[in-house]
Amino acid sequence: MFYNYMNLNELTIKEARQKLDQGEISAVALTQACLDQIKKIDSRLHACLLVNEIDALQEARVADQRIKAGDKSDLLGIPYLCKDIIMTKGWRTTAASKILENYIAPYDATVVRKLREAGAILLGKTNLDEFAHGASTENSAYGPTKNPWDETRVPGGSSGGSAAAVAANLCLFALGSDTGGSIRQPASFCGIFGLKPSYGRVSRSGLLSMTSSTDVIGPLTKTAYDAALVLKTIAGQDDLDATTTPEAVEHYDQVFKSDQNLQGLKIGLPKEYFLKELDPLVKEKIMAVAKKLEMAGAKLIDISLPHTQYGIPVYYIVTPCEISSNLARFDGVGWGLSHITKDLQEFYKTNRGVGFGPEAKRRIMLGTYALSAGYYDAYYKKAQQVRTLIREDFIQAFRQVDLILTPTSPHTAFKIGQQVDDPLAMYLEDIFVTGASLAGLPALSLPAGLINNLPIGAQLIAPRLQEGIILKVAGVLE
Ligand code: GLN
Repeated sequence: MFYNYMNLNELTIKEARQKLDQGEISAVALTQACLDQIKKIDSRLHACLLVNEIDALQEARVADQRIKAGDKSDLLGIPYLCKDIIMTKGWRTTAASKILENYIAPYDATVVRKLREAGAILLGKTNLDEFAHGASTENSAYGPTKNPWDETRVPGGSSGGSAAAVAANLCLFALGSDTGGSIRQPASFCGIFGLKPSYGRVSRSGLLSMTSSTDVIGPLTKTAYDAALVLKTIAGQDDLDATTTPEAVEHYDQVFKSDQNLQGLKIGLPKEYFLKELDPLVKEKIMAVAKKLEMAGAKLIDISLPHTQYGIPVYYIVTPCEISSNLARFDGVGWGLSHITKDLQEFYKTNRGVGFGPEAKRRIMLGTYALSAGYYDAYYKKAQQVRTLIREDFIQAFRQVDLILTPTSPHTAFKIGQQVDDPLAMYLEDIFVTGASLAGLPALSLPAGLINNLPIGAQLIAPRLQEGIILKVAGVLE
């Protein structure tokens, strides 16, 4: 059978796997097709901060040998892109910040090591909001990424480069990180699948820390099945990350084999996510998803998550506090930017002053303030107390239902520049995604159709470590 060489990059992982295993295509051809697509359109999109053609093709040749020798690993020979906040040995890793402009990672993040061992092919690194602070990828020190559906619009953020790359078929999947929506919201804006695993399901070792208590690495993919394959490969306990959980990793791809019947499954619709202010067009799309689930046998149940309204305020206290501490290490001494000055205080000031962009500085200041002796109890401690209430809301809800369905984002992708100078408006983007992050729960954004030719996502949230049920239901919807 003849396959158009140029279109191999459009395959899903599942399709590519079959063709690789049957010898219909080679990993080199697949990789070349992705590299060609990057060359063709990434000068416009700016999804990639780095592309390493030579290493990628070399890895592809090795993958072809392994395939020939009968190795049938799920991701063997599958090309991917990695958010540039995840360490890749010997490659520049910038977090889209000037302060790490010339930083070469000395080791692989655990997820990257696992993907290497599985034979996945790393093509390059994707753009993001600096240190993952943002919801539009406009906070990158290297310029914004454009949404492939409409290049005058943002791809969402902070994993906007990864989402745009998958949507534009620059790769078969991409890795992102999600601290408060950064995988799910760009997946919604770009019309793809974005899975934030449970906190502790995937190792954070080698992920540059933003908010250590909510950071999670996860896949952005073209299908739910592909997300299952990637998660299965990257998940698991890791000696290098004490917050990873010892529970065995499920065979997530097996959930798709069982029947498509959702009889007995209870899906909760939290009233706080469907307020009258919600755009009726968005509501219509999410309710259409709910209807499909009902038709597959699920039961829809109205529920309440009463502390939802505190999600954003709590997130924007906890997050800057952890950021102010995590970014303290970038002082110009150990790594990254290093302008030499005559005294030490000036050295710090110069390097941090030049190295960090406005949003990182805003968060460092907010966090330092909220953690200061006089305000600690009023802000940080209070926020952590309310965070417990938010988590308890979910625990209560999951006594009634198996899964929660909500919108991922209150609207479709907005215009580049539209709200870049309004940090509060940007923070409100996260209204539906911070809850699952603060509670450490797995959540997936899946395509729920188009509004005026722009994608919109629906979000499924499950109890801790129940990624399997999310993927199964997403598979039924597909
Ligand atoms: N929009 C959120 C923020 O700016 C998302 C960040 C993230 O998940 N990395 O903090």
